[in-house]
Amino acid sequence: MTRLTRRHFTRTLLAGAAAGFAGFGTEFAARAAPIAVIGGGPAGATAALKLKRARPDLRVTLIERNPSGLRRSAQNGPFAKPSAGPAWDALSAAGVEIVLDEVTGIDWTAARIDLFRGQRLAYDRVVLAPGTRNRPEPIQGYGARGRHFWPAAWGSAREAQRLTAMIKAMPEAGHLVLRLPAELSHPQVAQERVSTLARLLAVWKPEARMTVLSSTDSTGFDIPELGAEVTWQSANVISVDVDAGIIETDLGRITADVVNFVTPQMAGAIAGDAGLVDSTGWCPASDAGLSLIRPEAIVLGDARAGAKRTVPAAIEDARRLGSVRI
Ligand SMILES: Cc1cc2nc3c(=O)[nH]c(=O)nc-3n(C[C@H](O)[C@H](O)[C@H](O)COP(=O)(O)OP(=O)(O)OC[C@H]3O[C@@H](n4cnc5c(N)ncnc54)[C@H](O)[C@@H]3O)c2cc1C
Repeated sequence: MTRLTRRHFTRTLLAGAAAGFAGFGTEFAARAAPIAVIGGGPAGATAALKLKRARPDLRVTLIERNPSGLRRSAQNGPFAKPSAGPAWDALSAAGVEIVLDEVTGIDWTAARIDLFRGQRLAYDRVVLAPGTRNRPEPIQGYGARGRHFWPAAWGSAREAQRLTAMIKAMPEAGHLVLRLPAELSHPQVAQERVSTLARLLAVWKPEARMTVLSSTDSTGFDIPELGAEVTWQSANVISVDVDAGIIETDLGRITADVVNFVTPQMAGAIAGDAGLVDSTGWCPASDAGLSLIRPEAIVLGDARAGAKRTVPAAIEDARRLGSVRI
């Protein structure tokens, strides 16, 4: 249970004074520090709404860096990530305070959050739901050009649009390569990607062929029989030449006209910066979300080690927050 203790009150005043708080002003400084929820995806937004509805006396602040992220407008296109969870209006109507900014650091000792725009926000409790980010891979030749011209389309709407346009523009009898990493963060999405690409090829480029290039074999994958020629190749990527469309693997060279180069994932950057990830790159946490590294932190959704990484699982994580003493 959160109480307005002298320590909290002083901490809030100090933080407010230090930052100037253009957005919060003196009203912020006069109130208790909020429960800060970082990330407005399905896990974070559901958690914020649930907390506020369960305890209207609590201040709940949701911090989301993507200005359109809480609008929940349906994303179009075949590779879109679902925009799910409570939307801005519902959160706002319930009294959740929304801050559009990026959290760049957490000072656990001072109980303050650093925001990209330079403000510091005092908190009473932190809930992190930052999703995932690309995990760096030592693949020679794959850099900014690789990320641009061989789009992963794994959560980025722009990359999804680019990949769609590239498939439409590829030669009629061209070769599309879907590269899947050894560690699949979202196995269901990977299966969906195989099916979607095969379906699109069958309709848009019936003479084209597709290779799924993965370090693992195809066990667990359903390879659709849709007319497009789809083959599975188990090999490791060693180096790439993005401009020439060449992928060198430990079993030989592959040339491609279009590459959907999916990279491995890990917990969102702020989880690592805040010291909540272990050597796996994910945040170890109990089923209720309590961090096993820093028990005062709560981690929900895709960033949690062992999470299923689907929308229903992210929402279920937020619902389990009810068993945590806030
Ligand atoms: C391409 C793709 C397709 C998918 N399709 C499906 C599907 O059809 N069905 C399904 O069930 N699941 C699907 N998923 C999985 C599903 O989207 C995720 O499991 C779910 O969104 C996870 O929710 P989350 O809240 O944990 O993280 P996210 O949805 O990733 O939300 C995290 C939020 O945190 C914000 N954030 C991160 N860091 C900071 C920071 N430092 N400061 C402020 N804000 C920050 C981000 O902007 C983001 O809005 C798909 C995933 C992908 C990548």
